[in-house]
Amino acid sequence: MKAVTVEPGIDGSLDLRRVPSPEPGPADLLVEGVAVGICGTDREIIAGTYGTSPPGAGYLILGHESLGRVVRAPTDSGFEAGDLVVGIVRRPDPEPCRCCASGRWDMCLNGSYTERGIKGLHGYASETYVLEPRFAIRIGSELGSRGVLVEPTSVVSKAWRKIDDLAAHNCLEPRSALITGAGPIGLLAALLATQKGLDVHVLDRATHGPKPDLVAALGATYHRGPVSDVDVRPDVLVECTGAAAVVFDVISMSGPNGIVCLTGVSAPGRRLTIDAGEINREIVLENAIVFGSVNASREDYESAVVSLAAADQAWLDGLITRRVPLDRWREAYEPRPDDVKTVLELA
Ligand code: BGC
Repeated sequence: MKAVTVEPGIDGSLDLRRVPSPEPGPADLLVEGVAVGICGTDREIIAGTYGTSPPGAGYLILGHESLGRVVRAPTDSGFEAGDLVVGIVRRPDPEPCRCCASGRWDMCLNGSYTERGIKGLHGYASETYVLEPRFAIRIGSELGSRGVLVEPTSVVSKAWRKIDDLAAHNCLEPRSALITGAGPIGLLAALLATQKGLDVHVLDRATHGPKPDLVAALGATYHRGPVSDVDVRPDVLVECTGAAAVVFDVISMSGPNGIVCLTGVSAPGRRLTIDAGEINREIVLENAIVFGSVNASREDYESAVVSLAAADQAWLDGLITRRVPLDRWREAYEPRPDDVKTVLELA
């Protein structure tokens, strides 16, 4: 079968190669790949700065934002042939740690977790793959092909779940939110914020293309330019750019008892001059909470499905700015200026 692969650590090794078809065990689902979404993590793996192959494989099948169709399912699995499914990305560490043992692999304590298409396990960018029912999420027909957005939405569902918990601890009833970055993660974070009834502001550099309209269609306010120009003091800030300078501007902007959630993974090596004393003083005197959030548990995938089903489906279609068929696979991995989410169609 065909699969999109890289040799981790080697820039330019992206390829479509023939690999052996997977053999499901008696308890596994056999799944036909429908589509994978492409994100910044894929681009880092392709550039050779992130990602590891399964032990002994010599290559990694890419793809962690998945949508597939069940071809064969064990009778007692809860799934049947024809079901649309999304595969969970992370697998618990083999030990497992206290978090992984309780299904909170997104909070793994020892770092020995694996991630499909990213760390030590093949991903979903192949014509068929095997999925354990425990790590499969069923997608209803109302979402259909938009189900490929479930994985990135699960990441922001987790972030918002933690924000809500921390707000309660911080005596805060959030009314407003600023999201920095109007890529897929930022826009999905904004979608969830509007579903919570918040006054939502989104900041990005884009002056044209679909992002300003996608923000406006949510009923949110679009801002350009530096964070310091934003004329609101939001209760919650969700940083989705991973750009070092933006991260510190956002931290400095938190209000009384404010919550700052960092979701962007930044490239190391960027040095900044910051007034660390001033930033520390603001965080302490405001009782601010600054925290990082990555990955998602099963509960977050399930809540992502609910949020996406409740969204304007035309808006979700607008987020997917390119769908590229497998025979033009390379184009899917070449970013274009007006891209929001690019999807590679496998079927
Ligand atoms: C994925 C997460 C993953 C993270 C770190 C993100 O792109 O969506 O599931 O945990 O990368 O590898």
